[in-house]
Amino acid sequence: MKVYKFGGASVRHADGVRNLHKIIAGERDLFIVVSAMGKTTNALERVFEGVQRGDRAAATAEIAVLREYHAAIIDDLWHAPQQLPQVEELFAGLEEVVAHADYRPADAELWYDRIVAYGELLSTTIVSAYLAHAGVANRWIDMRRCFVTGQRHKDAGVDIEASAPLLRAEVGRGPERVFVGQGFIGGAPDGTTTTLGREGSDYSAAVVAHILDAESMSVWKDVDGVLNADPKIFPDAVKIAELNYLDTIELAYSGAQIIHPKTIKPLQNKNIPLYVRPFDDKRKPGTVIRGVSAPVDVPILILKKNQVLLTIRPRDFSFVLEEKFAAIFLLLERYRVKTNLIHNSAVNLSLCIDESWHVDEAVAALRGEGFDVMKIDCMELLTIRGYTDSLWARYACGPHVFVRQATQSTVRIVRKRV
Ligand code: ASP
Ligand code: MG
Repeated sequence: MKVYKFGGASVRHADGVRNLHKIIAGERDLFIVVSAMGKTTNALERVFEGVQRGDRAAATAEIAVLREYHAAIIDDLWHAPQQLPQVEELFAGLEEVVAHADYRPADAELWYDRIVAYGELLSTTIVSAYLAHAGVANRWIDMRRCFVTGQRHKDAGVDIEASAPLLRAEVGRGPERVFVGQGFIGGAPDGTTTTLGREGSDYSAAVVAHILDAESMSVWKDVDGVLNADPKIFPDAVKIAELNYLDTIELAYSGAQIIHPKTIKPLQNKNIPLYVRPFDDKRKPGTVIRGVSAPVDVPILILKKNQVLLTIRPRDFSFVLEEKFAAIFLLLERYRVKTNLIHNSAVNLSLCIDESWHVDEAVAALRGEGFDVMKIDCMELLTIRGYTDSLWARYACGPHVFVRQATQSTVRIVRKRV
């Protein structure tokens, strides 16, 4: 079995879906994992936000736009006005969720997942129907029934042991040898839908590859492979031919948009190579990620946006902050705050964290526990691996740099958004 993952950008229009067909043509024993089309997940987040605000009209208007967007792709694929009953059903289901939501803020993540999961249900339904129409016998797999996840909505992890027999049974059920499943979604033990964190389809594909003992996983993207920097932010980006698993985890964790950080472990455990390949040219080699690789000989720059810098200090000025670490991190975990960088002195603990809905609640709770907390918004975390003098001079200095942490090879810079 091989696993191919197609991101939202690669199926954002009918040409993209036709291209997917071209890439998989002739393949057998293939599991295709697909993300939501184009910017659908962002639009569904706006649908959710409408529900959250109690603005159903806004939510319904967003759904109408999504309906048209998907309908246009379907018409284009079939070269004629065409209605797919399963797609109609999905939109009716989504409208129903929004119309009858008895939303409670304490369940924000539950409602988020219920709504946002529709993106992948729609995309896979369309891709599967189109492949069938184009003569590729395939089976649509409902990943909500194959991936058992934790109960942690909006950021669930897959329970691989519990999921393996379900997925294997599903794949073994019929004569088809091509499968189409949703990235990004699963099901919690209580039967509710979960999502695996933004950009989580890579992780879905990796878990599928792990469970099915795939010979390889390929991620088809709109770039030539893994680049040493985001070309939209840092010009002169170049492709890296080979990476090892560990470096890739470091890069992804630092915020490299190339692959979801949770993707590597399921692959590494079974030594499955991961190819990052350009979907516009199947012949190009892309980047291969595996256990051992040649050393990377260019600096790597990674920018993680939407950060907040917290500086925490015990109000009683106790000089043994270490004793309070456990209490602080326990509390942050309770509010699901994700810490990306830790910097401490005798009395101060500075944390660079992801912006999220719960940061202010966490700050209030810390204050309630006897800490002074200073919060600075609009920050970014820049990581440079293999920095040079000129990169240091260019990025690690200046008044907008708040924190700088360096080892011999890597510098991490918390800076005001520029
Ligand atoms: N559609 C989801 C997102 O945009 C998952 C993914 O693309 O991997 O975050
Ligand atoms: Mg996406």
